[in-house]
Amino acid sequence: MTRIIFLGPPGAGKGTQAKALAENLNIPHISTGDILRQALSEQTPLGMEAQTYMDKGELVPDRLVEAMVEERLNQSDTKSGWILDGFPRTVVQAAFLENLLQSLGHSGEKVVNLDVPDEVVIERLLQRGRKDDAEDVIRRRLQIYRSDTSPLIDYYYTRHKLVMVNGNQSLEDVTTELEEAIASAD
Ligand code: AMP
Repeated sequence: MTRIIFLGPPGAGKGTQAKALAENLNIPHISTGDILRQALSEQTPLGMEAQTYMDKGELVPDRLVEAMVEERLNQSDTKSGWILDGFPRTVVQAAFLENLLQSLGHSGEKVVNLDVPDEVVIERLLQRGRKDDAEDVIRRRLQIYRSDTSPLIDYYYTRHKLVMVNGNQSLEDVTTELEEAIASAD
């Protein structure tokens, strides 16, 4: 049973690695960013509420993303495992997730931190060219990562769930290190 939470700054390659790993393991890849972008493109109430935050590089309010994740993890395809990408992003969300997983009976999750230096992240994001990848928005997202999300590294370290992976190497090498790290963490 594989249950993995991906941590790491924007641009660390979380999405790419999480998606590939989920395909290999045949388990759902749950990306809150993807779900929000989908809601936005469909102009649902959730999408419209989230848009103002996303455009500025701010975090969407916890209650919105928490409800999304709760609904998604309650679907039956998550029984065989899952990969969470982009959630949790705050300690409040992490505490929410801990309760949710407990109530669902989902235990043994591993937390992978994809470690990449700031300058590499900025360069990668500028090349990606997504709507929220303008330089001022990137800076804001990194600022928020540092203040709100990076405390999760300690949070999971103290809970003995953290696995560190060097994200500053070729895509293939990250994948290999990731697979080894997950296997040896069992
Ligand atoms: P991502 O694709 O993970 O980089 O997410 C894109 C944007 O969606 C972020 O900059 C946030 O505005 C929003 N978002 C995604 N996941 C979360 C989350 N767990 N909490 C709050 N906002 C989120």
